[in-house]
Amino acid sequence: MSADPVTSIDLPEDGSVHCWCCGTIDAPDRMVNLGDHPEVHLCLGCAHFVHHRAREIEGEGKQGPAALVRDRFRDLRALVIRRGWHHNRFIGAKLRWLDRYLP
Ligand SMILES: [Zn+2]
Repeated sequence: MSADPVTSIDLPEDGSVHCWCCGTIDAPDRMVNLGDHPEVHLCLGCAHFVHHRAREIEGEGKQGPAALVRDRFRDLRALVIRRGWHHNRFIGAKLRWLDRYLP
């Protein structure tokens, strides 16, 4: 049994591709590709999420003042997301920008 290459699904007529995580459609040069699987695209939002998740996994089990501060920022991020403030028309863009620079 062999798997067919995923080309027709991933290449709409206008050349855009879809994010394999959330389904967002965008130009290929606005997506992140996986090294050994160039057919897999991640939108920038999902790529940032994967980066944060990787940092969380790396930080698990670490202790100390820096870890405590990092955990407080993560708790604050979770609160913002839970309440949907990151989609607020007045402060949402600023919160999403700030999130890029927080641990
Ligand atoms: Zn995505």
